[in-house]
Order: sequence, then C-alpha cells, then structure tokens
Amino acid sequence: MMKQYRRIHAELPPDTILFFRLGDFYEMFFEDAKIASQILGIALTKRNKIPMCGVPYHAKDNYLAKLVRAGQKVAICDQTEDAAQAKGIVKRDVTGIITPGTVTVDTILDSSRNNYLAGVYEANGSYALALLDLSTGAFDVEETSCIDTLRDNLRRFAPSECIVAGEQAEGDRLHSVLDSSSQIMVTSGEDWTFEYDAAHDFLVRHFNVHSLEGYGCEGNAALVGAAGGALYYVREQLRRNVSHMRALRVRNPGEYLVLDEATCDNLDLVTVRGRQDPSTTLLHVMDCTKTAMGARLLREWLLRPLADMQRICARHDSVQELCDTRALLRDTRDALSNVRDLERLIARLGSGSGNARDLRAVAHSLTQLPALRTTVATSASALLSSLAKSVECLPELVQLIDESIVDEPPAAVKEGAIIRRAYDEQLDKLRDAASEGKQWLAAFQTRERDRTGIKNLKVRHNKVFGYYIEVSKGQLENVPEEYIRKQTLVNAERFVTPEIKEYEHLIMGAQERSMAMEYDIFCGVRDKVVAETERIQATAAALAQIDVLASFAERALLSNYTKPIMSDGDKIDVRDGRHPVVEQIPDAERFVPNDTLLDCTTNQLLIITGPNMAGKSTYIRQVALISIMAQTGSFVPASQAELGITDRVFTRVGASDDLARGRSTFMVEMQETANILNNATSRSLIVLDEIGRGTSTFDGISIAWAVAEFLHNNEAVKARTLFATHYHELTDLELTMSGVKNWSVLVREKGDSIVFLRKIVPGPADKSYGIQVARLAGLPPEVVERASEILLNLEDGELSEAGKPKIAERRPSKGKYDPSQMTLL
Ligand code: ADP
Ligand code: MG
Repeated sequence: MMKQYRRIHAELPPDTILFFRLGDFYEMFFEDAKIASQILGIALTKRNKIPMCGVPYHAKDNYLAKLVRAGQKVAICDQTEDAAQAKGIVKRDVTGIITPGTVTVDTILDSSRNNYLAGVYEANGSYALALLDLSTGAFDVEETSCIDTLRDNLRRFAPSECIVAGEQAEGDRLHSVLDSSSQIMVTSGEDWTFEYDAAHDFLVRHFNVHSLEGYGCEGNAALVGAAGGALYYVREQLRRNVSHMRALRVRNPGEYLVLDEATCDNLDLVTVRGRQDPSTTLLHVMDCTKTAMGARLLREWLLRPLADMQRICARHDSVQELCDTRALLRDTRDALSNVRDLERLIARLGSGSGNARDLRAVAHSLTQLPALRTTVATSASALLSSLAKSVECLPELVQLIDESIVDEPPAAVKEGAIIRRAYDEQLDKLRDAASEGKQWLAAFQTRERDRTGIKNLKVRHNKVFGYYIEVSKGQLENVPEEYIRKQTLVNAERFVTPEIKEYEHLIMGAQERSMAMEYDIFCGVRDKVVAETERIQATAAALAQIDVLASFAERALLSNYTKPIMSDGDKIDVRDGRHPVVEQIPDAERFVPNDTLLDCTTNQLLIITGPNMAGKSTYIRQVALISIMAQTGSFVPASQAELGITDRVFTRVGASDDLARGRSTFMVEMQETANILNNATSRSLIVLDEIGRGTSTFDGISIAWAVAEFLHNNEAVKARTLFATHYHELTDLELTMSGVKNWSVLVREKGDSIVFLRKIVPGPADKSYGIQVARLAGLPPEVVERASEILLNLEDGELSEAGKPKIAERRPSKGKYDPSQMTLL
C-alpha cells in the first residue's frame, strides 16, 4: 500500500498534501502529516517510524477548508473499487486537487464575492489576465500593455491563486508584480500550456468550437495564453470537472472607468483582503441585493464601472423605472428573495458534487421566475424588459424535480429517501418489499410471543448478525427446539430461524437495490438539469442584473439619491452632494451637503483649504464617489448632478495619512503621483489629499505647487482635480492660473470652542486659523501674539510687487535644479 501511496504522491504537483482514503479515514503521511497536523490541530502519530495523521471521511470538507484557507493544496485520493471485491490492494486514484483558487466547498466560499483563479501571460508586449471562478462558471480575460495596470487588476480582483507560465514567473517583469501582490498564491505552470497553439487547441476543444473568433480572441497570443493556461491547469493538473465553464468573455478595458488599486483603497470601495472595515465601504452602503448572485455582481460593477454613455444611461433609466413604480420594485425584490444561488448550484451539480437538496433549491428558485418575469416585463425600461426576456423559467425542469424528488431530501445521495413515491413503479415495489418484510417481522414477533409464552421475546437487528431473536436468560427454558443459537450474552441469548433469514435477505436485498436505484434516478434527474446549464447560467446572469438594479433603486429611495444627468462634456456639477458612507454613520452629526463645480476651463483645479478636521478629505472623496456611483449605474447622493463621463479616477493621499496601511513612505506617495501625471487625461478626475505632506514643508510645498502647475498647464492632461491641502501657500496658485479656484471649509469660533460648519465656500481659509486654535487651547498670550507677528512677516514676503506669488517665479537657467548634480544615496 505504501508503494501505491508513493506512486500517487509522486504524480502530484509540488507542495500538495495527499488525503489518502483508508477505510473510514483520509490519512496523511510523512511531511504532509506534519504540516496538516499543525494546521488542523490534530494528533501526529507514528507507525513503523512513519509520521501520520488522519481525518474521518465524512468530515472531509471541514478539514479541507482549514487547509485550503491556510494556503495549502490538497489532493483527494479515493478508493475507486469496492474494497470487498478488490483482489490485493484496493485501487485508488486522485479524484481532484483542491487549491485556494479552485475551492467549491460552500463553507469556505464567501457567497458575496467571486473566488478567482488568475492566469497571467505575457506575449507580444502585452499582459493578459484571465479570471476564472470555478464555483460560478465565470471566466473573463483582458489584456493591457501596461504592467502597472496588470498589478492594479490583480490587487483589485484579488484572486486567491495565480497560475503563470514557469519561465515568465521567474522573469523579472512578472516576478515583480506577483511578488508585490504576495498574498496571492503563485503556481508556475508548464510553459507549453500557455503557448498559442496549445492553448488555442485546448480552448477550442473545451468549448467545442472551430475558432475563438466568437469570443473575440482568435489570434491574440496573450489572451489565449492566459485563458488556455488557466483552464488547462484546472482541468488537467488539478483534474477538476470544468464542464460548467461554458463561455469566455474578453473584456475591453476601454469600455470601463479605470480604477487603480490605490484609488479603490483610498475610497474604500470594497474590502480587499480584509484591509477595510467592511461596514465603512461604499459596497456595504450600496448593497441592498436580495441574492448572492446580485451581491457578487454589484461588487464586480463597483470595481469596473462603465465608461459608455449608452450603457450607463440604460441602467439609470431602469433604476428610475423601479423607483417610480413601487409595486414593480416591491414585487421584483420579493420574488428575488426566494431565489437561491443558481450559479453555484448549477456549478456544483455540473461538477458532480451536488445533492438532491441542490436540485430542490434549483426547482424552488425556478418556481419564482414566471411571476418575476411577468412583473419585470411590464417595465417601460428597455434594459429591464430585455433582461426579463433572458430569464428562462424552465417549467419542464421544475416539473421533473417536483415529481421526482421529495420535499426535504437528505444531504447524502446514496442512502435513499430521495425519490418521491409513485415516481418509479419498480422502485416502489422494492421499497414495498422491504417494508412488507419489516411488517412480517413485526407480526412474527407477536406470533412467537403468543406461541412460546415468552413475553419479552424481541426481533432485533444489528450490522453483524442481521435480524435475530433475543430471549432473556430467565425465559430460556421456553425457547422452541427449532431456534438456532447464535450468540450468548450476559443476560440474554440470540437465535435465528430459517424464516427470519429468508426475510432478512429479502429486506436487505430490496433496501440495497432500492438505494442504488434511487441514486440512479437522482443522477438521471441531475443530468437533465445539468443539460440546461447554459440556459440556467444565462438566467442567473439576468437575475443578478435585475437584482443589482433593484438594489440601486432601493438604496436611492432609502437615502434620497437622484438620477444623475450624464454628458459627454467636461462638467461635473453637483448640487448638495453628500458622502454616501459618512452620511450613513449612525449617531454622527447631521451631514452637511455641498456643491461642486469642476470643468476643464475655469474650474479645473480646486484647492480646498481649512483647518484639520474641517471636512476636506470627506468633501473631495465624495465627488469621486459620486462619479463612480453614477458610472456604475446607480443614482447619487445629491439633489442634482450633471456629470461628464470620466475615463479614470485617481485618488492619492499624502504619506502620513496612510500610516495604518503600512505604506507610509514618501517614495510610494511620489510613485503614485508620477503615475497620475503620466496617465491622466482631460477626462480624468483626480483627487489629491495632502500630497507633499510626506516630506519637509519646503520640499512638500514645492512639489505640490509643481504638480498643480503641471496638471493645469499641460494641454495633454488638464484633468479635473480636487486638491485638499493644509499648505496655505498653495492658495496663491489662483493668482497665477486661470483654471484654479480656491475653496475652503467654513469654521466658526464660538466662545472658547470651534464649530465646524462643514460648508464649502469660495476663497481660501483664514490663514491665522492655527493661531486661533492655539489661543483657544490656552497658549500664553505672549506666545500667541508673537506667532501672529511672525505670520505677518511670512505673508509679507509671499507676493511680489505685481501681486504675483513669489514662490512661483522662474529662475535664470543656471540656477535651475539640475538633477545630474544631485544624487540620492
Ligand atoms: P479634514 O480632511 O479636513 O481633516 P475630514 O474630511 O477628515 O476633515 O472630516 C472630519 C470629520 O468631519 C469626518 O470624520 C466626518 O465625520 C465629519 N464631516 C466631514 N464632512 C462632513 C459634512 N459635510 N457633514 C457632516 N460631517 C462631516
Ligand atoms: Mg484630511
């Protein structure tokens, strides 16, 4: 047996723990046992000096979950023949390898987000990222020529595992990306599986098509390589069932609003790897979905808002329709709340791990659909009515499941009690035979008691002897001759008779055969359901969209959002805008709404000043959030909003604000700023919070000033920018540049305290604000006075005679900063 074990283990990918089925246990040996016993907290034992540990087979999933969560790969090795019939050692084989990116066990999966395995491949100067979710059947691929975008996408979509061609995984470029996203488990795949011809051939055969033209990636080596390599890994190396992976979707990044990782992070859009408190994310506030499918889709939509006017407006129109027609919204949401996770149900059933409860869940969900479909179809919104058409009710499946499967089937599929009575005549006969046999035994017991006079004579059953008669010690003299003694206990003796054995044979045989037959019927019903995978997946996709749109409407009504007016222009004009998350904080002060006007001409760069805690950061983020929400298809927290479509949103926070996330270096701040200056366009929206704070004041002001000038003066950029700063000097920018406007957050002094009014007003903040606070705090009067004097001195030097800010003056070129003369060591 150890020989068999070693042979099987040798064929596994490296670092895989082998669950080796022995009787009622999965055993682990050697290194595997040491690692697993540590993680699982179970005893490590030794037999013939071999370290080993084991887990009961019926609790496999729980242990598996723990190991996979700890980042391990686990191969399940089962007996592939009946131990009783085996000659010599029972045949065993690996039935599948479970890895963090490919788990389908419900207990580990978060129902509200996808669990992705990523395939990454570089070809012809472009990087492709395939995202495959085995638990739902989702399979996307997109390419980019920019490695930073690849890094951003990896972090944003946070796959649990990444498969890369071995050679490339070692190469410098990808290595740096994968290394810096180190929380992802990286597996190196065989190079050839990513190469165009092999990957293409593999995909074509899997999807059963002639070319990949229909998916839009024929001839594209990067896309095909990433997708093919990922699917090959799951199907061939992990030996998993991928029959429910029915389509590949190529994403065109140009259709979406680009969000980089830092932006998602700074704006707290969703929780990525537990960094954010889930209750303070935008997703949390926006999520009123009724189904897991909707919750997952909303998350995807938030990470990938649209950039296409028509599609955005179609979503807004349907949300409007749902808001206007309350009955439509209510009935839709009521029906959705009874729909289960069809995507994962069909994935489970298709991969052979689903049970009869899953079938019932499918039927229950499908039963809701006719009413839902009719309701949604009445809508005037083109998007909603086309979604209604994509919902297929599949009544023939509902009928099949209803007729065949009992209302509350057990979890096990091979122990009977699954199939309804009257569904199959032969099955009923078998079951009748078994129950008649049992009735006969009961009658036999009564008859024998009467005949022998042994009042406590019992017919009983156990696994070793089958059925037998038990008579207590005191009654032994009354036992008839023909009873055959089988076993003597302390207080009783056990007997059998030929008749009992005959009925036992009948009962056991009938039971065994009926269970086998129930399993066959179950498989038949399951296969019929699985045969409709594509229609069920399309229905699930439509339901998810309806759910998200209804969730937008629900949130809009609850929180008083309005429908934004989208335009191709550059204007962002928000009236009474609110921060969607801050306004929801329980027991907080009443949220004060504020207006915003941004464009590419006279309101291009807004400098927001105000004392600490005034509300600057909240204000600038709320503008970004409103844009993102609108392009996701949602209504927005404002009384009115006209929004020019944005191609990218950039958000950067000055270094010291970001301490908690452990990315506090000034270098990171500057790298991120460089990324903005190099990538922003006049369609972009930039939110800069205290940029330049991570270094000395003079340094910081100089950099901040130069960055602002670049964003303003460079025709290729001219991006709409909100810049919150406590560097008062920056308010002088307005004097030199026509597109700069100063705004500040109002604060009022009241007695010896400060009242934050949270109102954004034109003009710079009061310069001496810090000194006022110092006075209120009780600094000695002479210190306060002296500080005011110094402030005046500083201000005197600020402007030239022409009223222009002195710090903006150009120098004769010899004094100009020459990078070659200074090196940072
Ligand atoms: P700053 O960046 O100016 O230091 P913040 O934006 O961090 O200030 O805001 C400080 C606090 O004030 C926030 O935590 C928030 O609770 C509250 N706040 C900000 N803006 C508003 C507003 N418009 N209405 C109500 N409370 C606000
Ligand atoms: Mg701030």
